[in-house]
Amino acid sequence: MKILNEQDKKYLLDSIRAINDFPKPGIVFRDITTLLNDQKAFSFLMQHLTERYRDYNLDFIVGIESRGFIFGAALASCLGIGFVPIRKPKKLPYITISQKYTLEYGVDEVQMHIDAFRDKKNAKVLLIDDLIATGGTAKASIELIRQTKAECVEACFLINLVELNGSKEIEKLTKVYSVLEV
Ligand code: AMP
Repeated sequence: MKILNEQDKKYLLDSIRAINDFPKPGIVFRDITTLLNDQKAFSFLMQHLTERYRDYNLDFIVGIESRGFIFGAALASCLGIGFVPIRKPKKLPYITISQKYTLEYGVDEVQMHIDAFRDKKNAKVLLIDDLIATGGTAKASIELIRQTKAECVEACFLINLVELNGSKEIEKLTKVYSVLEV
């Protein structure tokens, strides 16, 4: 199914556990491990994403640490293309490029290997993560992808926390697809 109906969305949303006050008071943490260990829900989601992205002619899927790795690597394999990880500083062993971004308190950074897209010029890539909140991580990740002259054709999130308006910020940079809106 290329397009999900309300029943499909409810099915996926019900497979994701909400944990109140984690990791700190006031946060409702969306725990996707209960989707991953549900073979039907996980394969339903991956079939949907594969059908959606089959005709995009993508060169790479780029996943954001760490839950973006799970969906991104699975999707890359389904599409028969390569996977690239975006990581927090000092995790990647080879030469990296970096992009800093501001948090509520302080600064953070994302990194990618300088040769992440091999010798592919102007690679067409899809960025993926489990959830978009303020959009800070995704924005920095798109800027990082652009440093390599690759094109981020879409950013895909399993869950969009609509109230935080992160997806609106990302829409200024690229197309956004959120499977579920909360
Ligand atoms: P942001 O940069 O604010 O959009 O935050 C997005 C990143 O933080 C993603 O990698 C998410 O996995 C994680 N994240 C933020 N809020 C939540 C939440 N309520 N539940 C689960 N993960 C979250």
